[in-house]
Amino acid sequence: MEKAKIAVVGAGPAGIAVAVEAKVAGVAPVVVLEKKGEDCDTVVNLFHEGKRVDPVYRKVKVEPIGRLSFDTETREEFLARMDRVIEEYGLDIRYWNEVQKVVPGPGGFRVVTGGGLEVEAPVVVVAIGIFGKPVKPGYPIPKEVKDRVHFSMPKAPPEGEKILVVGGGDTAAETACFLCGTNDVTLSYRREKFFRLNETNACNLDECACTGKVSLKMPSNIQGLSADGDRVKVHFDDGSDETYDRVFYCLGGSTPQAFLEGIGVAFDGRRPKVDEAGETNIPGLFLAGDLMLEKGSIMGAFNSGKIVVDGILARYRDKVLG
Ligand SMILES: Cc1cc2nc3c(=O)[nH]c(=O)nc-3n(C[C@H](O)[C@H](O)[C@H](O)COP(=O)(O)OP(=O)(O)OC[C@H]3O[C@@H](n4cnc5c(N)ncnc54)[C@H](O)[C@@H]3O)c2cc1C
Repeated sequence: MEKAKIAVVGAGPAGIAVAVEAKVAGVAPVVVLEKKGEDCDTVVNLFHEGKRVDPVYRKVKVEPIGRLSFDTETREEFLARMDRVIEEYGLDIRYWNEVQKVVPGPGGFRVVTGGGLEVEAPVVVVAIGIFGKPVKPGYPIPKEVKDRVHFSMPKAPPEGEKILVVGGGDTAAETACFLCGTNDVTLSYRREKFFRLNETNACNLDECACTGKVSLKMPSNIQGLSADGDRVKVHFDDGSDETYDRVFYCLGGSTPQAFLEGIGVAFDGRRPKVDEAGETNIPGLFLAGDLMLEKGSIMGAFNSGKIVVDGILARYRDKVLG
């Protein structure tokens, strides 16, 4: 059993920001537990190569309040930035340690990972984000076409195919614009117009639509999918059908409710209950990043690190600095 003053679960932008702010405040040791073999798994695996990483996301501009910040840059530049942060602040990240249990006890928390590590800490910050579980449509995906229906960009993006992208947010717009360079792309969205795209994505999508690279099918609602040979037949609720080589759903992520409820975190509907510092109903257990924010973003995740650590210092100073 290792001991830490703060155990952070997840090495995404929020977990890293918590560790940085804690380090700057003089808290030690701080241990970050990450389930994958690298930090920022959401950016590594869900952002396509060369993707623009925008500080303004879902139309929300967030001013930096803590140590970490960034300007628009590519996915690769952003990941290099995070590597530099980890090195500069000497963060202790334990990779391949997926947290399976957080057990509150009288002397603090016991954090247990699938990698065989156990960490005891008076304060735990859970920063595992919402993208481990993408939102899926309400209708079933037929098993014959499962490998042609995507919830993230495959390592080798398709070329020369007929593709349907579903969604109306920044990720749907970016996916459609990215794929339309080498594919025949249609974007299906249930509303008549987009209302939550950032300016750059709105502009790019407009240009792709005006030059005929992306066809917009709006408003359109999908009733279900079926197999058409090895292709995907999409059934729209206006009675029309269309067959595509692939369908990409860009519907966002969902809160890992079972994991949090397993620890004992109380929910208000679908959202975990947290106060202004990110503390849950369990004293000493905080949430950061997408888990605590209504409209999550990378800048929001960075700022949540500062907010959470300020809260920890105000409430548990003797436990984490003693
Ligand atoms: C396709 C796409 C494009 C986006 N583009 C932008 C953009 O341009 N600008 C922007 O601001 N935002 C963007 N976002 C949103 C942004 O990625 C998130 O808001 C941000 O990553 C949230 O940070 P986080 O640290 O809360 O969670 P995450 O980044 O999701 O990090 C969570 C970390 O926890 C780890 N983890 C999960 N479960 C466990 C466990 N049980 N034990 C240990 N570790 C665990 C994961 O491996 C991961 O490394 C985009 C999201 C997507 C999906």
